[in-house]
Amino acid sequence: MPAASKSSARRQPARELVFGDLWEYDPAPETADPQIRSSYDLFIDGKFVPPAGGKSFPSINPATEKKLCDVALGAAADVDAACRAAQRAHQRVWGKMSGQERGKYLYRIARLLQDRAREFAVAETMDGGKPIKEARDFDVPMAAAHFFYHAGWADKLEHLAPGRTVAPYGVVGQVIPWNFPLMMLAWKIAPALAAGNCVVLKPAETSSITAMKFAEVCQQAELPAGVVNLVTGGGETGAALVQHPLTTKVAFTGSTEVGRRILCSLAETEKKVTLELGGKAANLIFEDAPLDQAVEGIVNGIFFNQGHVCCAGSRLLVQESIAEEVLARLKRRMAVLRVGDPLDKNTDIGAIHSREQWRKIEALVKSGVAQGAEMHQSACRLPARGYFFRPTVFSGVSMSHRIAQEEIFGPVLSILTFRTPEEAVEKANNTAYGLSAGVWTDKGSLILKMSRQLRAGVVWANTYNKFDPASPFGGYKQSGFGREGGPQGLLEYLRVA
Ligand code: NAP
Ligand code: MG
Repeated sequence: MPAASKSSARRQPARELVFGDLWEYDPAPETADPQIRSSYDLFIDGKFVPPAGGKSFPSINPATEKKLCDVALGAAADVDAACRAAQRAHQRVWGKMSGQERGKYLYRIARLLQDRAREFAVAETMDGGKPIKEARDFDVPMAAAHFFYHAGWADKLEHLAPGRTVAPYGVVGQVIPWNFPLMMLAWKIAPALAAGNCVVLKPAETSSITAMKFAEVCQQAELPAGVVNLVTGGGETGAALVQHPLTTKVAFTGSTEVGRRILCSLAETEKKVTLELGGKAANLIFEDAPLDQAVEGIVNGIFFNQGHVCCAGSRLLVQESIAEEVLARLKRRMAVLRVGDPLDKNTDIGAIHSREQWRKIEALVKSGVAQGAEMHQSACRLPARGYFFRPTVFSGVSMSHRIAQEEIFGPVLSILTFRTPEEAVEKANNTAYGLSAGVWTDKGSLILKMSRQLRAGVVWANTYNKFDPASPFGGYKQSGFGREGGPQGLLEYLRVA
């Protein structure tokens, strides 16, 4: 190093180099046209129809804060029309159709999603803020995979309950959240249709675009009218749907608070209900774990989809002997995460889904500081506009801190330590939730022991956030009940006699 730069280097305050100090990627925007219409009506009985009340609401791109389109606000009368259309379709067509024929429609939908994958991925990224590489490589392919998987089951339903008879419910009411809009739709609609039900689904208010594009796919696939109905709107629209007398089965994914409210409102009915709710997963790192791999798993566990993941590894439990080393490696890794334009193919972390969610994350982060945890945020540059949040980790967290107990649903990790496997299990299970967990160790026996003792619906070993349509997903405790995916998930859409 020349003498001059040596002395100027000495004058610089000690700061870790951040990505972009030395060199920068060229922009690599995904340019496919998402083909978003300027406004979307409701999709009822195979057609796009205006809402009864004539009202609409805007859908916002969280990375630019600009409006993308207007979306119809469905009222109780629209929910009623949709449920009646679903019932007619079930009685006249879908309920009578052979499983083999139903399967052909599901295959067709899956293939159309593949054909239009790029367009769907861009739309999902623009509406929700997630990085294009995730929408492209995860959300859209997983949505198609769920239709392929369930298409294969449609003519084999009797094998789900040998020696017994299975029958669809008829009309299913489904309400989904905003974090994986298209994928959550696929998790709901594919098994329901394969089982012979017709559906009315309400997407989340802030992420309706890919659902309405899915309506176009239903038309393209020539799915009989009324088999799939989509009613956009807010919480009231969702409440009208779950309470509608024709929805004999209700499937909800969302927050524990709303799930609880729905369950109370249906307590006096005979509806079959499944709830997929929130989580506060423990990701356990033992001292014999492969540390670099574990750090990748930690990053994936908490920063995937900006941490808007119900099964996010949001509580990191590290064995005390390696805690410092893990934190140091994690900070180094965080320094090279790229936060920014979600449409850029090199972006790792996109925009927080909405202003409201940004504020919620900010408030919980402030509570972490106020309660005495030590905060570290990566020093990346954030775009001037849009709802962006720095990847954040808290060390020195104790079980009583809000950031150790409450679901943050953002790129914020709370780190706790443990000494023995027993203490790890006790801390991991000390939560109202029980959706998922991770275990990192070199010992197979420890993995088996931990996965038996952790009260979580899914336990990943030496990996995190892995999904497959054949693998059931769901919670214990306040994370809900019922499963999605695999034969168990399909059975939730069938009466067994
Ligand atoms: P949310 O506020 O509970 O909303 C979920 C859905 O319910 C939205 O479509 C919402 O409409 C609707 N809704 C609101 N009030 C309702 C009511 N009274 N009756 C019927 N429907 C109602 O949850 P979110 O903020 O969208 O999503 C985040 C939550 O979902 C997190 O807690 C996360 O853990 C959970 N989640 C769980 C899973 C899982 O599989 N376990 C998967 C993904 C997400 P609006 O859009 O108008 O609010
Ligand atoms: Mg949006």
